[in-house]
This record gives sequence, structure tokens and C-alpha cells, in this order.
Amino acid sequence: MQLREVIRLAAQRLREAGIFTSVLDAEVLLAHVLGVQRTFLYSHPDYRLTEEEKWRYEELVNRRLGHEPIAYLVGEKEFWSRTFKVDGRVLIPRPETERLVEAALSLARGFSPQRLKIIDVGTGSGAIGITMAAELEKVWVLATDLSPEALCVARENAQRLGVREKIDFLLSSGLSAISGVFHLILSNPPYIPTGELANLPAGVRNYEPLMALDGGEDGVKLHEALIVESASRLMVGGWLLLEVGEKIAGLVGKKAWDSGNYGEVKVLHDYLGEARVVAMRKV
Ligand code: GLN
Repeated sequence: MQLREVIRLAAQRLREAGIFTSVLDAEVLLAHVLGVQRTFLYSHPDYRLTEEEKWRYEELVNRRLGHEPIAYLVGEKEFWSRTFKVDGRVLIPRPETERLVEAALSLARGFSPQRLKIIDVGTGSGAIGITMAAELEKVWVLATDLSPEALCVARENAQRLGVREKIDFLLSSGLSAISGVFHLILSNPPYIPTGELANLPAGVRNYEPLMALDGGEDGVKLHEALIVESASRLMVGGWLLLEVGEKIAGLVGKKAWDSGNYGEVKVLHDYLGEARVVAMRKV
């Protein structure tokens, strides 16, 4: 069977299962099985799959039919132009989070030439902390998570991306075990209200770690805790940056003001005009 036909048959099954990106997914999974770029699939139409390749492709397509995210099936996801290893132990890094990284890098440049100290709370795959470590020259990042399994993934990513010397990992649910003061505290805390978890798409709800998504009753439980705890871990002039969704941005901003610990509170928007980050500066 020609590769084109293999793709067509898989895409048809995916489409029937309600997957809108059926052709793309069929191609991405096939390229992954063959260990090639997608362009290979069309430049080598006569390539014949071995029995093992057929079997592995079938398995991945079947898992995709159950709406398992592509990133878990291929075991990686791109974030800020780097490839992060991901699996079901960690949240898949989202492009939205690049807005937080962009803001953090621009604030970081304002502190140079000092050696920056940064905390990434709830590091997951390590996306935020590792990107900061890789993009900045003089920096030390402390990345925390309350999942030991997530820390394994993050450590491996730090190793693979060559920043192991600039980053340390800590199993911790908050900041209480951390001493010293930092220039930046960054976090993409879970922010789906508990009651809305059931409405998430199946691929998210059934496959991504619940603890990386559940933001408590109103979705701001973790933000609230970090607004309080960060005050004593930031140096004067340091910033706390929290990722938010449009619905909770106002509430998070209000809690930041009400805490009395921050002299400047800003809501940053993404390129779609949606509130994406609340940034607050310690006074
Ligand atoms: N910091 C990680 C990310 O942004 C994980 C966040 C989380 O698990 N809520 O992708």
C-alpha cells in the first residue's frame, strides 16, 4: 500500500471519531513511527511499511481515536522553539504560556547585569524555568512541583536542553521551604474551576494530570496562595508573574492589590487580546 493510502485510511478513521485535524494527525503519527519529517511521506510515496511499523502506527492511531493528545503520542512538544519531552506525568506546555515567558524575559533584562534568581512554581515539564535558564546568561532557577513524577520529567528536559547547571528542582507545594529572596517568581498555576473540569475536552480531561488543571472552587486558589507567599520571597522591585485565563484575570488583579504587598499590578494580554498574565511588583 502506498503511504498516501495508509494516511488516507487512518485519517478517515480519525475523522469518523470526531477528530478535526485528522489528516495532519495521521501524517504526524506516521512520520513519528518512521522517524522522518512529514515531507518524506510525500517525497517517498512508494515506501512500504515494515510489519513492525504497521503495528506501531496502528497502535498510535488507536490511541488517538480515544482522543489522547498528539504530544503524548509522539512524546514531545515544542515550547519557545525548544523541544520538551512530555508524557502523562506533566501538563503539555501551551503556546499561551509563551506570553508569560516573553514578559519575564523583558523584566529580566531590566535587572541585568546582576545574576538573576528566579523561581518557577509548578514547573511541570519545566517549560517556563528551563526556557528562562536557557535564554538568560547569568541566572539561577529554582523549579518546584508537588509531583515527584513531574520533577523527573523536568530534570530530564533540563539535562537534554543543556541547562542542568543553572537550575535546581524542589519537591514542594508552596514557597514555605524556600529561603532567600528572588528577582522573579513565575507560575502557570492550575486555573480551571473545579466545577468546570467535567466540561474540558476529552483529550485534556482524560489524559492530562488533574492536579495541573484544578484551580479550586473559583479557579484562583493557587494564585491567591502565591500572591500571599511570594511577598516575603521577592526582593523589593521584584516581580511575581502569574498566568491567568480571561475569566479570572480581574479577580487575581484585585487580590494582588488587596494584599497590599505590591505597588504595581498589571494585566498583560496575548495577541488575541485576551488577558493572559497578571504581573505584580513588590514594594
Ligand atoms: N509550568 C508548566 C507549564 O506551564 C506546568 C503548569 C501546570 O502544570 N499547571 O506548562
